[in-house]
Amino acid sequence: MDFKKILLAESDIPTHWYNILADMPNKPLPPLHPATKQPVGPQDLAPLFPMELIKQEVSTERYIEIPDQVRDIYRIWRPTPLIRATRLEKALKTPARIYYKYEGASPVGSHKPNTAVAQAYYNKQEKVKRLTTETGAGQWGSALAFACAQFGLKCEVYMVAISYKQKPYRKILMKAYGAKVYSSPSRRTQAGRNILAVDPKSTGSLGIAISEAIEVAAQDERTKYSLGSVLNHVLMHQTVIGQEALKQLEMAGDFPDIVIAPLGGGSNFAGTAFPFLRYHLEGSRKVRCIAVEPASCPKLTRGVFKYDFGDTAGYTPLLPMYTLGHNFKPAAIHAGGLRYHGASVICSQLLKDGLIEAVALQQLECFEAGVLFAQTEGIIPAPEATHAIAQVIREANRAREEGTKKTILFNLCGHGFLDMQAYGDYFAKKLTNHELTEEEVHAALPEIEALQPA
Ligand SMILES: *Cc1c(COP(=O)(O)O)cnc(C)c1O
Repeated sequence: MDFKKILLAESDIPTHWYNILADMPNKPLPPLHPATKQPVGPQDLAPLFPMELIKQEVSTERYIEIPDQVRDIYRIWRPTPLIRATRLEKALKTPARIYYKYEGASPVGSHKPNTAVAQAYYNKQEKVKRLTTETGAGQWGSALAFACAQFGLKCEVYMVAISYKQKPYRKILMKAYGAKVYSSPSRRTQAGRNILAVDPKSTGSLGIAISEAIEVAAQDERTKYSLGSVLNHVLMHQTVIGQEALKQLEMAGDFPDIVIAPLGGGSNFAGTAFPFLRYHLEGSRKVRCIAVEPASCPKLTRGVFKYDFGDTAGYTPLLPMYTLGHNFKPAAIHAGGLRYHGASVICSQLLKDGLIEAVALQQLECFEAGVLFAQTEGIIPAPEATHAIAQVIREANRAREEGTKKTILFNLCGHGFLDMQAYGDYFAKKLTNHELTEEEVHAALPEIEALQPA
């Protein structure tokens, strides 16, 4: 059968999340308490997260059941389609078969509600009243605001100041879902006030916004904190993407040689790739999983594997990960979701063990790929998603040169309807590539040396 798009029934929405910790040959190192440098226990995390999510964070069970109420909300947009990019294939004259999973089909236009809904559910179960979080360009904030509205939870979002000012539409979307949105750094928290005391015009960063959201949650028993990526449970919730894609490709009689997704904290990459990587780990199929990061924030390809904080103020446990240092300041590229200084612990360990690959791409190549995708397949991709497409094009061109019939799957993790300014700037030739010197890449690294355990 020659498929253009492969749809599943609602009853095909996965019943379980897949936990790759069960199958990793080397388990990740434990997160450490910054003061004692001892592994953190569940009680250390209890002020911030509901117990069920803490259990998931450390679980090594291969499958964890998805609660019915979560699956019921997933039905609003899941299963998402798997689409064969036939017109892109033709434009590239490639013998490769290119498929994409379309996560832009969600209410907020990205993959992020897959975990937001789950997190809001477990908080609601444990009698939490309010969730706090950070957001960069607003994708995560709007996903959590949507999820909180579904469960009648209050939602408070700290939005990186530069985006708060320059990207009003997702801020309005969050308000439409009933959330409160504050520009970060704000005067509402000590972390915010400390930054403003030194730099009153600070444009903010994800690291600062995380510190603010954590601080507010830590001070109120009925308020907890929610993170949109990086943590093990977040990666696991996203595996609905790859599990559906696996089933859809089975229907097409196919299996990917290459799986590609952009990487900010690692959740959409993990969610897409891990259900396939599982076969690679057990030795039954070979699959190359490629995480794509921006050249301006290259933690996987140019960072170091060290213990580091997840936020700027140092409120989080120390995580063993590829990092550029928690004070690294990436250039203001339009792919806001990819401007995080570290990569998830699980993705970092897999990369260290050579089980996944990483590449860093320049933004002009990515926008060019995004425009070709829009002109061939019709969907305007989020700037983050263009990173995956640019790598797909590289692989498809290689397949043509080598004359090999590769199957490539990628995650179209979001649409770009609320990122039109980015395309406008690209067409106006206002965007440039960012070639970071070794000095710039390593600027924030010396200060994490003192954080390493003996
Ligand atoms: C947040 C976001 C990303 C990056 O986040 P991950 O944690 O790596 O999944 C990528 N694409 C879009 C559209 C996003 O909203």
